[in-house]
Amino acid sequence: ASFAAVETGLVLSRFGQHADVEDSAGAVVRCNMRRSVASLVTGDRVVWRRALHPTGGIDGVIDAVEERSSVLLRPDFYDGLKPVAANIDLMIIVSAILPALSLNIIDRYLVAAEITGIKPLLVINKADLLSATEHSALEQQLALYQTLGYDFLLVSAKSGIGMTQLLDYLHSGTSIFVGQSGVGKSSLMNSLMPGLEAHTQDVSANSGLGQHTTTVSRLYHLPNGGDLIDSPGIREFALWHLTPEEVTRGFTEFTPWLGRCKFRDCKHISDPGCAIQHAVESGDVSSERYESYLKILTSMAQDKPNYF
Ligand code: GDP
Ligand code: ZN
Repeated sequence: ASFAAVETGLVLSRFGQHADVEDSAGAVVRCNMRRSVASLVTGDRVVWRRALHPTGGIDGVIDAVEERSSVLLRPDFYDGLKPVAANIDLMIIVSAILPALSLNIIDRYLVAAEITGIKPLLVINKADLLSATEHSALEQQLALYQTLGYDFLLVSAKSGIGMTQLLDYLHSGTSIFVGQSGVGKSSLMNSLMPGLEAHTQDVSANSGLGQHTTTVSRLYHLPNGGDLIDSPGIREFALWHLTPEEVTRGFTEFTPWLGRCKFRDCKHISDPGCAIQHAVESGDVSSERYESYLKILTSMAQDKPNYF
């Protein structure tokens, strides 16, 4: 086959050795990947060429992937760590009032955001279930995160509370929703992008792959600007691939104290002369966050005998 001159494009979705690439005019072209393209995921920017004589529904070839500003990885049983989405600017960490809000789970996602270098936004859904008093009590509880530099929003996909503010965060750049099952990620995405659900079902129906397609990541343009990556495979990603040092780095308020511990290999757990523990005692570091940090390390050590 012969090809036209090189162009740049955006990967909307990848299926095996094929990918849907959006050209600069917004048209979607199905492409093959050159063997030299080792890794390709939704959100990647690529260099590609249009086929002059398209055959079999394949209309182009991807030559190379441009450098990524960020990448989300998922542990894969066979492949170790697998990239699932690239060039994400905003990680929308969704929690809910029901099932009960877990600050520890929020902290886990915050570590992931810090380590991947993606800006996090905390979204607490189902605010419609809160009385006015509960609403302000929760805001007070979450004020800690604001002091750490993390924005939070109380929203409701059901009643629409906070949805305009949420939209403001999505207007530019590429966002992804993450969070545990049942918190309302699908409900939020569907209310921001009517037709998303129908589209997802279309893909499954057309390809005949059934369930498998639900793990395919896809990039959507939001009606009022900004892009959204829907990636079922990454929604509930775990942290098990992180080292204890990375978890420590993920708690950014610990940074000023690192290197001040008595022992250079301090794990900041129950080590004598630990500067972080001192900071907790003196109130410079929140004890809730420190307890949460210990909980994360302990649970990760349980899965991996030689973790420390
Ligand atoms: P996901 O698993 O995170 O995608 O969550 P879903 O969007 O499937 O929602 C889980 C459940 O929570 C469903 O029964 C929704 O109807 C419900 N839900 C979602 N958003 C809200 C909300 O804002 N308020 C209330 N009360 N329920 C909600
Ligand atoms: Zn220490």
